[in-house]
Parts: sequence; structure tokens; C-alpha cells
Amino acid sequence: MAERIPYTRPSVTARESGYVTDAAVNGWGAHCYDYIERFEAAFRDHLGSRFAVATSSCTGAMHLGLAALGIGPGDEVILADSNWIATVAPVVHLGARPVFVDILPDSWCLDPDKVREAITPRTRAIIAVHLYGNVCDMDRLLAIGNEHGIAVIEDAAEAVGSRHRGRAAGSLGTFGTFSFHGTKTVSTGEGGMFVTDDAALHETVLTLSNHGRARTQTRQFWPDRVGFKYKMSNLQAAMGCAQIERIDELVARKRAVFDHYARQLEGLAGLALNPEPSGMVNGYWMPTVVFDRETGVTRESLCAAFAHANIDARVFFHPLSGLPMFEDRPGNTWAWDIPTRAINLPSFHDMTQPQQERVVDVVRQVLKAS
Ligand SMILES: *Cc1c(COP(=O)(O)O)cnc(C)c1O
Repeated sequence: MAERIPYTRPSVTARESGYVTDAAVNGWGAHCYDYIERFEAAFRDHLGSRFAVATSSCTGAMHLGLAALGIGPGDEVILADSNWIATVAPVVHLGARPVFVDILPDSWCLDPDKVREAITPRTRAIIAVHLYGNVCDMDRLLAIGNEHGIAVIEDAAEAVGSRHRGRAAGSLGTFGTFSFHGTKTVSTGEGGMFVTDDAALHETVLTLSNHGRARTQTRQFWPDRVGFKYKMSNLQAAMGCAQIERIDELVARKRAVFDHYARQLEGLAGLALNPEPSGMVNGYWMPTVVFDRETGVTRESLCAAFAHANIDARVFFHPLSGLPMFEDRPGNTWAWDIPTRAINLPSFHDMTQPQQERVVDVVRQVLKAS
């Protein structure tokens, strides 16, 4: 059988192993925050945000940010039906109600018209998730947020390297969150980042992230409120420092992998890849193919063909409203339909062109057989 092709894995060099080794040997006592502070500063600079707080995960960063905004029981939070569960779990943990709306058929991101229709007097926030690196229509979402006095939050877990009219995805809303899970463009194994330009929000998140202990509190072991424990370790931050120093290279590789797929698939009718509209840059975290309904290609035929070729391709996110713990919203037509005829292609940074060509061959075969 042909060698297994994984769908993602981090790009690790001597820089990462050097910093992590240094953190393991020297990063204790007075130095136990050195890499964390360095990573936060470097990420802030990369993004063009005023404040950044390293966290244990993107889910944790989202939980902290929503809690800091005071979101809780009786509140509604609007987000796209197509997404990973991570964005909505904190909404549920805080006792607020998630309101799932449909996506746009081309960007696979939140449909601003549907957002507008879903707003009620209880709506407290809109969470824009830049799915697979595709950038949400932030101009319209921010305008809706402004008009109604509602926070617009960005889950940019999948959007490292993506840009919206010159500004980094994740830096445009009330706050942004990032993931450094092992599958993401920048990795620390597990990890995340909270970013904002709002000084007061930053201070609240810092306090919440450290068990409710304010930075200004001089008494030892004295929390001022009940918080969370969502901090990143210095060891993880050491890996993050190396990754952020290589950010341009990491994003360039993801874009090169996507471009190679796009060129190879160019002549084939009946499929669409991640879009990059003018004014936007797509970080292309996850190259994804959506097949036209007329092709007859299904998620099942794709999964079977990729499994047969020993390639780890993944299904497009199921609609969250279709999961057992939420109320079905089949009226979210695109979110329910697109995953039935789509697939994520492998895209790790060090992927070779022959490996990509094996992937493209499977796409061709499935199209031909349908
Ligand atoms: C990966 C991912 C997350 C979760 O990140 P963790 O660091 O694993 O918590 C959240 N949102 C989206 C859109 C993701 O892709």
C-alpha cells in the first residue's frame, strides 16, 4: 500500500527544538514567564493588535473573552452553523444560547443577511469564524454590530496568515482568538491566544485567566473573583516563539500547497476551492473542495476513495445544529448541504508535490466515477 499521507502536522525545525530545550532546562524560577511574554509580544506585533494573552487553547481564549464581556444566561450569541464545536462550547458553558445561522455558498462563512434576521433584543455578540482560512465579510458584520451595539468577535483559529483589506484576520473585532493546536498553521501542540485593542477587556481577561487574581493585587494567593485556569506554559510558548519567527515561511508554505492544488485542479469542471476575493488574503489553512451537486460526488464516495488511497482527507464540518445536543436547523440550507459533497485535502507545510499529485489523482478518479 502507498505510504500514508497525513492531513496536517506542524513544521518543526532546529529552532523549535532549541527553544523548547532551553525552556525545559532554564525556563524556571525567575525565567518561568520569559517565553510566554516573548511569544505574546511577537504575536501582537505580527497581528497589529495592542494586547495579546497566551492561553491553553483557542476554546479557553473564547471562554475568557465571552466571560469578560459578561455574556451569560438569557443572552444570545449568533454564529455560523458550519463550524467546529470549539467555538460554541464556551457559549453553552456560560449559559447563553447559541443561535446558528446559515453560511454563504462561496465563502462558507457567516451570511450577514441571516445574521441581521437573527438579531433579537437578547443578542449580545456575533462570532465570525474565518472557516478554513476564508475571510468573513467583516465590513458588513462590523456594520451590523455597530448599528445594534453588539460585539463582533473573530474566531481566527483557522486564519493565521489571512488578511482583510490589509489587516490581519482576528484583529478587527472586539476581540479575536487563535489556536495553536497541532493541526493548525502555527503550533505549540496545544495552545491559543486572545487578542484585543481594548485595554479594559485585556485586563479583565488577564485576571480571569489566572484564577481571578488581578495583576494589581498585592496580597498573595488572593483572587478577587472566581476565574479560570487557561494559561499557556513557558514550554509551549518556547515552541510558539520559534513558530512566530518563522510565520512568513509557514504561511507561504500553506499558500504554496494550496496554489499547487489549484493549478492541478484547474481544468476540472464541477468543483470549487477556497475563495480569495479581491482585498482579501487567504492563509489557506485547509484546502477544501466542494463539488457541484450535478457531479454526483458525495462525502461518502470521497471518504472511501481517499481511505483506499491511504490518504487522510477529512469531511467538511457537520452543521452544529445537526448535533444531538442542539435543535435541528435544516433551514440553514448551505450549512446542511455543502458538507454532503465536500472534502478537506491534506496540506501540511512539508508536503511534497508528488504527495499532492496522489491527492489530485483521487479527486480526478472520484469525479470520473460519478
Ligand atoms: C481548532 C479550532 C478551534 C479550537 O482550538 P483549540 O485550540 O483546540 O481550542 C476553535 N475554532 C476553530 C474554528 C477551530 O478550527
